[in-house]
Amino acid sequence: MRAIAVAVPVPGIGALTYAVPDEFPDPPVGARVLVPLGPRTVTGVRLGSDTCLTPAAGADGPGDLKALVDVLDREPFLPPDVVALAVWVADYYACGVGEAIATAMPPRAWVESERHAAITEAGEARLLTERGARREALEQLSGGRIVSVGSLARRAKGIQGVLAGLEADGLVTLTRPLKGNADASRTIRVAMLTAQGTEAVDEEVARLGARQQQALDLLRGAPDGLSIAALADEDIPSESISRLARLGLVTIERQRVERDPFDSDLRTAHGRPLDTASDRITRMPVIALTEEQQAAVGALVERASRRTYHAALLHGVTGSGKTEIYLRLAREVQQSGRGVLLMVPEIALTPAAAAIFRAAFGQRVAIQHSGLSDGERYDQWHRIRRGDVDVVVGTRSAVFTPLARLGLIVVDEEHDGSYKQEESPRYHGRDVAVVRARAAGALIVLGSATPSLESYHNAQNGRYELIALKRRVLDRPMADVTVVDMRAEYANEGPDVILGAPLRDALTSRLDRQEQAIVLLNRRGFATVVFCRQCGETFECPNCSVSLTVHKAAGRARCHYCNYSMAVPRACAKCLGPYLEQLGFGTERVEAEIRALFPGARVGRVDRDTIRRRGAIAGLLARFAARELDVLVGTQMIAKGHDFPRVTLVGVISADVGLGLADFRAAERTFQLLTQVAGRSGRGEIAGQAVVQTLYPNHYSIRHARQQDYTAFYEDELKFRRAMRYPPAVALINVVVKSKTRQAAMQDAEAIAVALRAPGLGTWTVLGPAPAPLGRLKGEHRAQLFVKGTHRTSMRKALLTVLEGMPEVRRRTIVDVDPMSVL
Ligand code: ADP
Ligand code: ZN
Repeated sequence: MRAIAVAVPVPGIGALTYAVPDEFPDPPVGARVLVPLGPRTVTGVRLGSDTCLTPAAGADGPGDLKALVDVLDREPFLPPDVVALAVWVADYYACGVGEAIATAMPPRAWVESERHAAITEAGEARLLTERGARREALEQLSGGRIVSVGSLARRAKGIQGVLAGLEADGLVTLTRPLKGNADASRTIRVAMLTAQGTEAVDEEVARLGARQQQALDLLRGAPDGLSIAALADEDIPSESISRLARLGLVTIERQRVERDPFDSDLRTAHGRPLDTASDRITRMPVIALTEEQQAAVGALVERASRRTYHAALLHGVTGSGKTEIYLRLAREVQQSGRGVLLMVPEIALTPAAAAIFRAAFGQRVAIQHSGLSDGERYDQWHRIRRGDVDVVVGTRSAVFTPLARLGLIVVDEEHDGSYKQEESPRYHGRDVAVVRARAAGALIVLGSATPSLESYHNAQNGRYELIALKRRVLDRPMADVTVVDMRAEYANEGPDVILGAPLRDALTSRLDRQEQAIVLLNRRGFATVVFCRQCGETFECPNCSVSLTVHKAAGRARCHYCNYSMAVPRACAKCLGPYLEQLGFGTERVEAEIRALFPGARVGRVDRDTIRRRGAIAGLLARFAARELDVLVGTQMIAKGHDFPRVTLVGVISADVGLGLADFRAAERTFQLLTQVAGRSGRGEIAGQAVVQTLYPNHYSIRHARQQDYTAFYEDELKFRRAMRYPPAVALINVVVKSKTRQAAMQDAEAIAVALRAPGLGTWTVLGPAPAPLGRLKGEHRAQLFVKGTHRTSMRKALLTVLEGMPEVRRRTIVDVDPMSVL
């Protein structure tokens, strides 16, 4: 009996060990298997034999393993290198291996169904000449019954081996009807002329009805046929086509079509339909690279040609033309016969990157991100797995793409927080990409105008090669940044001013000159607090320790954490007084304010409230790009990656939104946001300006952003991180314990802290516990502690050992290794 390690899609459990009964072939690593798990039968994935083996629950000991029920794949379903990557993720980020494997799986891969057996004609014919177990099996199936292998196995032991023999002799077929619609590919009906139809003489045609004649005409011009739907668009009913088919003049075939996510994305992005998916390789104008770009491409192409692991940080100011570098590099690597993975923070926000790669690589590109429908993701995944694709453009989870022979990974906007998954597995897509590149012997390029402290630190200490682009293309100047001290504005105009005088003036002049402006505020909604003037009561979320935000258009007060909402209150819940006041403001209010100040301006808004509908963001951005809008108001979504040449002004309503937060990355985020958003200005021929409103004009993140001086910021910030012992100076694990009461949460967290502080255990320090900054979330109280130290592996191991000793607490505890946010 052979034993194998299997990952099952159940949160929090490690690899389980199952026995492979003799009648099964050894499933390769990455193959799916059906295994018993408690009362259920579930799909799992075979792991490598180096994975630590725990007997499946219910087995009495290693000698008494549960047997797997079926082997679903003879070839690896997940490529073995992706399996190894997922195992690494589970270990590093301290989550169950099944959760990590699940992240790498395409939709519909976790089938929970068994093989079915059916008799063939040959089997029926041979029924009486067979003997013993073979005869019995055939009898069970005789008469065309389709029976699950599992139910046959319950009646006769060893039936799998018998069936395998019968299948080999062609007497039965074994199939795997999958639960749900497993083969999700879509088919369409296509009509095509037959030889007879092509040669039909006029006399014959004249006898047909008008619609049928028209259909024949259309089909003569379409050698590949026309879909029934396309013919219907020409007012030809499907009955006419059926009649032609009966006359033998046309055939109707079902053709498999792959859902193409580019279709819908591009259509909305450009505001016009494109031609068919197959031949959309448009001619791109050949751009002459700048000297800096040329040097970067030259160096990186050389690194790629070494075919060994190499990491480079491409630090290029906004508008320095990084995309063009990725493109040329990707082409070189593709032509050398290797795969390319381009990772972007959020595809919905950067349809341009996908479009550029699609234009360059045509059908050899696939796109992977969570915004696609299951069907689209299924199609794209299988195209990649089959090897029909050399270039994958995707978000965080694309790091697990089944792309073979990886030669290049590009992580664009590598500093972006969306690369970190804020639920289990809490992995960082960029960091996992580095691990994958190392295993594949590939080149990895991390690109950003504002690199994360971690990556720049790695470049400083020689782990990454640093490649810098200091100038914008075509020698365009960087935007001129004006910092407005809002304390002075409040003194002049009173406390209610939202757009100070400098920003109002700047907007006025842009609108006069018919240029475009972006106005950013990283907070959505209309008002952020509802407060009773009579008794001082504020409206808080009943589940979370935050106040409710008023959304005026929707008429609701809503919690941004748990989505609880109520009608905007008219009277105080406590004293019943009618004197409610709304304080604070978000993007909805800013939009209203700009409309009031500039009645002639065409204003659009991009935030999570306005882009709920799929494609809405692409539509808004397309209208802005087409200059159907003058001002775009939005949250940080509009700060990312977009390239609008007519934008000459960016206004930041408040640079302070993130600064007050008790998060060690607050200054870094502020600097990044201001630099990125200023980078949206002046990307065309006309120089750009940014106006930044703040209460803290002398904060170093704002001072350095004004100078657009990344290295000065990096040095100041690193001093702060070293002094406070935060990453990248140390490794950090954030532990959050949730409980029904605050006291219970604190007690459990305290128990963890005490255990971790045991003398002689290790050299790390434990901070806390303390109530988390968001003390209550979704009805649960949260206590928090930090583990800081230099040796991440031993910190994690010690923490997991402690938690193993308290399994009930473990289930309520979030372990976040290398956290992006500690709120
Ligand atoms: P980044 O990502 O570095 O901010 P982009 O890659 O978006 O910059 O490039 C900014 C703009 O400059 C794009 O419109 C791009 O097509 C254009 N561009 C890139 N390289 C060149 C070049 N060498 N000459 C002229 N325009 C260029
Ligand atoms: Zn809430």
